[in-house]
Amino acid sequence: MSVYTRLKQVVGEKGFSEDPADIAPYLKEWRGKYEGHTPLLLKPASTDQVSAILTICHETGTALVPQGGNTGLVGGQLPLRGEVLLSLTRMNKIRGIDTAGMTLTAEAGVTLAGAQQAAADVQLLFPLTLASEGSCTIGGNISTNAGGNHVLRYGMMRALVLGLEVVLADGRVLPMLKSLIKDNSGYDLKQIFVGAEGTLGVITAASLKLFPRPAQTVVAFAAIPDPQAAVMLLSLLQGETGGMLSAYELIPRFGMDLVLKHIPGTRDPLAVPSPWYVLIEVAGGAQNLDVLTAAALEEAMGQGLITDGLVAQNQAQVRELWRIRETISEGQKREGASIKHDISVPVTAIPAFVEKATAAVLAAFPGARPCSFGHAGDGNLHFNFNAPVGRDAEFLAQWDEIQLVVHDIVKEFAGSISAEHGIGTMKRDLLPRYKSHEELDAMRMLKQAFDPKNILNPGKLVPTVKRL
Ligand code: FAD
Ligand code: ZN
Repeated sequence: MSVYTRLKQVVGEKGFSEDPADIAPYLKEWRGKYEGHTPLLLKPASTDQVSAILTICHETGTALVPQGGNTGLVGGQLPLRGEVLLSLTRMNKIRGIDTAGMTLTAEAGVTLAGAQQAAADVQLLFPLTLASEGSCTIGGNISTNAGGNHVLRYGMMRALVLGLEVVLADGRVLPMLKSLIKDNSGYDLKQIFVGAEGTLGVITAASLKLFPRPAQTVVAFAAIPDPQAAVMLLSLLQGETGGMLSAYELIPRFGMDLVLKHIPGTRDPLAVPSPWYVLIEVAGGAQNLDVLTAAALEEAMGQGLITDGLVAQNQAQVRELWRIRETISEGQKREGASIKHDISVPVTAIPAFVEKATAAVLAAFPGARPCSFGHAGDGNLHFNFNAPVGRDAEFLAQWDEIQLVVHDIVKEFAGSISAEHGIGTMKRDLLPRYKSHEELDAMRMLKQAFDPKNILNPGKLVPTVKRL
């Protein structure tokens, strides 16, 4: 019996497709940068089925690519070499919620929005928030160690995972689905699979940490002169609110212009244009958090850190302000070609980094239009550039050069070339330029130990070249 026939038998009729039309949506990613191809899509419904699939794949040396919601931005979730595609989306049950212990156990295919809703239904909070939350899955969030808007307060996905159920490359199941806050009983094996992008095992379920729902959430918007003011304002706000900041997003004027131009129904919340803005979210149980936030902004204005600002007065205004931040990517896309970098540097290095790296890109490609925005509160910027008007193709042809210019400066500032999106295919061969031989060797040792036949997402994450 052929290996594909055996795999199809494991999942039954509802659990596979060989029809190119059915499979097509699983093979294209959001940015349209990569396209995969596969003879077989498998959609297992249980951990037992995943285990049986991997047992067969291991025995026969059949490669496969795990996929969640297919919202990854580095091409990690696509079968680029014709591997079998393993979609976890049918494994979408919430297995349980412990309200007193504040934990939630979800299968890998539960969407992030589904997990958030399950927590909200019992008046608790699952704090991870991404613009892709309607489609991305808990398994994908863990495998990419996703970040997003609330990392400043709650940490990345890694900090929210208490336990995991993982199927190893040879089909054995690692039963690590505990809900413990404290567990020092040896190596923290679950963490090895967080951010591993499906190269070390297949995650089938997770126990996640929940939080009390903040009684009050205040959203404010401030015009600031420059990124230096953003860093100083951050520290002022942390102090004045007693650490209640839950989001702190930097927005450049050009980003605002793109939103106003391309996204229907948006408007500039402030009267006078400013070179930079920050979107501020403060959340907690304290009374009068809005008064506290407004007072902190007054003080910042007195110090010249902000030139104008407002505190949202109602939910509609909150949504309007967040919509500006959330639609910058879409605005960039509609404007034309762009080159993007998902980088982080220490928070205090943001101003110097932005100045140096922007100047270097403009020297390499005069006329490029900087659009650096994002999670300034944790040092992560989406350090992006739009092409000069009418020069899309010429600009994109310089992708590799521009990327190196930016990433080399990231390295000078002891930063990271992938803050939250991962490595996947896109950045795989860049790693040797930015990580030590020792780190790369340790990564290869892990890969070899967990997946000796190289059947799990081969060709992703672990570099194949020595040094660029
Ligand atoms: P997929 O894209 O399907 O897969 C991602 C990787 O995980 C692949 O390598 C895949 O092989 C692996 N994988 C998936 N499921 C499993 C599993 N069960 N077991 C083992 N491996 C698995 N990311 C951020 O961090 N922050 C953001 O703010 C953010 N904003 C975004 C906004 C938009 C509009 C879009 C399109 C994407 C954004 N992303 C962001 C990126 C993306 O949403 C995240 O990386 C997300 O965590 C991916 O989840 P997914 O279920 O779609 O995974
Ligand atoms: Zn982001």
